[in-house]
Amino acid sequence: MRAPFLKFLIWAVFLFPFLCCQGESPEWSRLDKYKGSMSKAEFERLLKNVYVPREKWRMNWIELGQDAVKIRKQGGKDEWYVMPFFNPEGNATTLPPEEYWRSGRKLRSTSTVKPLSGYRIALDPGHLGGRYSRMEGRHFEIGEHRPVKEGDLTLQVAKRLSKNLRALGAEVFLLRTSAKPTTKERPKTLREEGKAWQKRIDGESPPDRNKRDQRKIEKRRAEILFFRKEEISARARLVNEEIKPDLVVCIHLNAAAWPDPDNHELVERNDFHVLTNGAYMGGEVAVDEQRLQMMVKLLSRSHREELSLAESMAACFSRATGLPAFSYKGPNAVKIGETPGVWGRNLLANRLYQCPVVFLEPYVANSKEVFARIAAGDYKGVKKVAGKLRVSLVEEYVDAVVAGLVLHAGNHSP
Ligand SMILES: [Zn+2]
Repeated sequence: MRAPFLKFLIWAVFLFPFLCCQGESPEWSRLDKYKGSMSKAEFERLLKNVYVPREKWRMNWIELGQDAVKIRKQGGKDEWYVMPFFNPEGNATTLPPEEYWRSGRKLRSTSTVKPLSGYRIALDPGHLGGRYSRMEGRHFEIGEHRPVKEGDLTLQVAKRLSKNLRALGAEVFLLRTSAKPTTKERPKTLREEGKAWQKRIDGESPPDRNKRDQRKIEKRRAEILFFRKEEISARARLVNEEIKPDLVVCIHLNAAAWPDPDNHELVERNDFHVLTNGAYMGGEVAVDEQRLQMMVKLLSRSHREELSLAESMAACFSRATGLPAFSYKGPNAVKIGETPGVWGRNLLANRLYQCPVVFLEPYVANSKEVFARIAAGDYKGVKKVAGKLRVSLVEEYVDAVVAGLVLHAGNHSP
């Protein structure tokens, strides 16, 4: 659910990178293990089709040579990381370097008894619930109805889903099990950082604000740091350092921009899409830390898994929901593969989680149909809702993800 939060998106894309990486020099040695492991053809295909679709976005940052690619280590400095390509005539190994996650191909041999045996799956219930949903902007109210909180719905789906996946042999981990944050930080503990961020935004000539407005804007910065940077970084540490799963499924519901932001009226549009990591825009490639994270994603070949997983999910959501696939129009997303509804985007979570990650964005929560289904709650069997006999939205969501994972797992030969 991100469309109503357009202003925040603009910050996230343009300001966050500069904020989070100032003064830190990224560890380019993280790429050492990939030296000589990927052919130029594969590298170029992934770079152009998935990660940086426009050439001008990578100019001056990533330079493709015949035998190696050069990546600028730090903005403003003429220092380059040299990554040699796989050379079939050299002594380079043909085995890809080890990752903490295993590919679908490797896992295929373990999933003979039950379809998901051997899989370690982390479920990420998107956002926070309860009292945090309003702060995060993942919250809306219509008339006397109960407020719709994306973070509560995603947790409900994740909990039900974890039972079903365990029954199919998977080991399942939830990145949060309540409405509460994973991070120990709170907006209050981040007030100084919020203040410093606002100072950087205001620059040399800050606008004339009264004390109250100044405090308000600094408080908002601290809130954004809390629910976005700190919360997602805490989940990333959980994924990369503790759980080390084979894949992460990020559970979300989409939302459309309100036609009139002051007068919330439900929309007609309802659709689904699934995201892999990709489409790093110029401003993002230019951030040292993001450029390194992108290279880790590319060289670890996590896209192979993300593509199979995303296409399986899209096929199953299309069948289960009957919804049309959403298409992006702007430069912040790239079409991935042939299956409708599968797109690449650079989001904090799918960039920081090092294993394969898919983001699920089914349903437009503020559409007439989905709002009626959310208001009907979770129920057993079928019920007439919004003019049709249907299973509950939570059940339909869970069924589609289960089918998508089973399809993905069966897509590989050992
Ligand atoms: Zn969301």
